[in-house]
Amino acid sequence: MYKISLITGDGIGPELSESAVVILDAIHEKLDVKFQIEKLLAGDIALSKYGKALPDQTLDAVKKSDACMKAPVGESAADVIVVLRRLLNLYANIRPAKSYPYMPALKDGIDMVIVRENTEDLYTGQEFEVDGAAVAFRIISEAASKKIAKYAFETAVMRNQKKRVTCVHKSNVMRKTDGLFSRVCADVAKQYPMIQFDQMYVDACAMNLIRRPETFDVIVTTNLFGDILSDESAEVVGGLGMAPAANIGDEFALFEPVHGAAFDIAGKGVANPSSFILSAKMMLDWLGAKHHDQKCVEAANKLESAVYGVVKKGIKTRDIGGDRTTMEFTKEIVSMLA
Ligand code: ATP
Repeated sequence: MYKISLITGDGIGPELSESAVVILDAIHEKLDVKFQIEKLLAGDIALSKYGKALPDQTLDAVKKSDACMKAPVGESAADVIVVLRRLLNLYANIRPAKSYPYMPALKDGIDMVIVRENTEDLYTGQEFEVDGAAVAFRIISEAASKKIAKYAFETAVMRNQKKRVTCVHKSNVMRKTDGLFSRVCADVAKQYPMIQFDQMYVDACAMNLIRRPETFDVIVTTNLFGDILSDESAEVVGGLGMAPAANIGDEFALFEPVHGAAFDIAGKGVANPSSFILSAKMMLDWLGAKHHDQKCVEAANKLESAVYGVVKKGIKTRDIGGDRTTMEFTKEIVSMLA
């Protein structure tokens, strides 16, 4: 029995969470992977209810669980996810971008993953004002760069696809910080002669994600660039509604959609739950690998095939050219899981 903490979030978060519970219950029933789900509050709703975006009871429950699924939170996102990543040392943010059938995608045949350093860079929020200027610290350490570089190469080995790692930075301008990141990645590359290694400036990468996204395999990059490029890669394969993510540490992991709380469509029942359902797929993969649980790995594969199968039948939510509601789409996936 896996204990799953579920942060239900803000905006479309509660709708996505409802969908995730239906999916996990179906896996529990049909595929014999047992879950105990605990729903938790964090984000704007927790801020208004308890005066704290990440209440202590939520943090405690997350720490006691085997894995966390976090729906998107609203304006207080930085006080929730950035803090959770740091407190739980979730140093790797994994954001796959994969072509699914009949998507409003720019190109087909894309299967890539962005491995984003998750603990440093401008996202530590260390900022201050002085004499009419605002200053932000950008710290890039050798230790964190090495850790994420290794994770990226191991991912390329495990994926066994194009066997390519592209290190993305802007070292021609940020010579110290990105210079270090680039040098450490190149050093780690020497331990992986079977993996092709190349480097790309972030602006060139942004362009190539549009021009020839199908050529990428694993991109390793710093925190801010990874955040921006992963929204772009999600859009290239058909939109944020299909984009899952994982925050991985040595002992714990948290799974969430790439996108935010999408207040513009909240409460209408039209959100695409795939981003969160595919995040659950990543959780099953992670639990399976951690606990040597083949049933979990099989459930992950079946869940992805079910999403694939449903969109292939032309059953889609509004964002990807269909008319199904969040729950109708979810139930189609459940029937496909059988
Ligand atoms: P953040 O900065 O917190 O990531 P954002 O301002 O980039 O948030 P999002 O909430 O990610 O905005 O939404 C961007 C756009 O994508 C919105 O128009 C939203 O409706 C759409 N969108 C995001 N997620 C989904 C989803 N699951 N289904 C359908 N549309 C979505």
